[in-house]
Amino acid sequence: MTQTAPAESARADGEQQRFASLDPRTGEVIANHPVHSAAHVAEAVRTARAAAGWWAELGFDGRRTRLDAWRKLLVRKLDEFQTLISAETGKSADDARTELTLVIDHLHWAAKHASRVLGKRRVSSGMLMYNHAASIEYKPLGVIGVIGPWNYPAFTPMGSIAYALAAGNAVVFKPSEFTPGVGVFLAATFAEAVPDHPVFQVVTGFGETGAALCTSGVNKVAFTGSTPTGKKVMAACAETLTPVLVECGGKDALIVADDADLVAAAEATVWGGIFNSGQTCAGVERVYVAKGVADEFVELVTKRAAKLRPGGQANADLGPITMPRQVEIIRAHVQDALDKGGRAVVGGLDSIRPPYVEPIVLVDVPEDSTAVTDETFGPTVVINRVADADEGVRLANALSYGLGGAVFSRGRGEELARKMNCGMVSVNAVLAFAAVPGLPFGGVGDSGFGRIHGEDGLREFTSPQSMTRKRFGALLNPMTYDRGSRTVRHVQRLAKLLYGR
Ligand code: NDP
Repeated sequence: MTQTAPAESARADGEQQRFASLDPRTGEVIANHPVHSAAHVAEAVRTARAAAGWWAELGFDGRRTRLDAWRKLLVRKLDEFQTLISAETGKSADDARTELTLVIDHLHWAAKHASRVLGKRRVSSGMLMYNHAASIEYKPLGVIGVIGPWNYPAFTPMGSIAYALAAGNAVVFKPSEFTPGVGVFLAATFAEAVPDHPVFQVVTGFGETGAALCTSGVNKVAFTGSTPTGKKVMAACAETLTPVLVECGGKDALIVADDADLVAAAEATVWGGIFNSGQTCAGVERVYVAKGVADEFVELVTKRAAKLRPGGQANADLGPITMPRQVEIIRAHVQDALDKGGRAVVGGLDSIRPPYVEPIVLVDVPEDSTAVTDETFGPTVVINRVADADEGVRLANALSYGLGGAVFSRGRGEELARKMNCGMVSVNAVLAFAAVPGLPFGGVGDSGFGRIHGEDGLREFTSPQSMTRKRFGALLNPMTYDRGSRTVRHVQRLAKLLYGR
């Protein structure tokens, strides 16, 4: 059966237009889903808003109990969920299982830590207001619209959904048109664990459904996807002054210093570049290796990458390219690298056999090639030689993307990592930051702004409320018309004494 993009398979079905979700390995229809209109989206947001009040009133403990119940249900249904993710994305069983392990870990962390991070806490009142108790608490925003991509259809949106729910918000989620079933599964299992009110809902469809969510009156939109779509989402949200969190693409670099453990760096390059067929926002797309160790490093990468084979079987090293039109972007980048003088040491243009792409390792590719400058999102890695790790960092920082990065060095790892202009960086590993729930996830520049995961990820879905409570009358109170000018002078003298020396 030929591969058909879901967009082409949309059809009128009575009143309700539907579209098919397809298995990219076979082109077979997995299920049909509604194309939700702006009116459907508005209704989902309306009912979610009514449910949000109940959810917020439950408090941290009440929500934690229910989020824990949801987590346990997901664990019980892990095999079913893994099969669905593999069917909609084509990824191998192990890649899908790895994704789900991270989902469970983050859901646990968000539910457990929300109270500590967001609950009321006292802060110092300072010199002037010593007679007031000061406190802060983080209140839910209301309804969060989440728009997600297809490459990690559970892990990526759950970085917003789990944290937004734990913070006390209701959620309306629009999954990618390529992975609607994963979104439906998440919402259905939540409703099974929390049947009381429609706190977490899903709307399905194409870009128009996502666009409708942006202008539906939600209190914030959490978008994860490509940079061009991120700009459209921001523009749509600007119409209604809806705040946005934008997690976009990257062109992450891995630096190999001349004192690196080359075997570990090569293993990380192959894994970080090829895992999930390279369809990883923070995957390794560029490597800068110090010239003194470059030949040995390239040989190590070559040996490992050349062994990997794509396929549709559950235990394949890598699955297909999920989104058919991505194949032409991969081809164009490889062609451009070769045209500009780069060399393929593993695979080449012949490795591209839709829907599969075998690993491709390119070396000595000019920095102005699209294979270096643009997000490829395929199982390809560019390895370029540099004088030393510092030059590698300089080139890594030369692009407008700044999502993640990695540094391999025995002696200078953290020093070099700090110089990288990106939101997250791993030393002597790849992608480790994504698996630490306590660490915020997000980028700078064209990779977006705002953070999911960790304490910042919880606060992202809240509004801080500051409060003071007067405890007793002050001896010196300059904030009243009853003050005498002596009071103001005394307070000023005190300030000079404390802060002027
Ligand atoms: P897209 O930008 O194509 O789509 C993302 C989501 O936005 C989809 O649900 C899509 O719906 C929806 N959408 C499309 N048009 C609009 C619109 N006008 N208004 C609102 N929503 C819209 O990204 P992909 O799905 O192709 O995902 C891959 C991208 O995601 C890569 O660039 C990758 O790097 C990035 N990504 C970033 C991550 C991060 O955390 N920084 C993590 C994972 C991926 P539909 O699919 O129906 O068109």
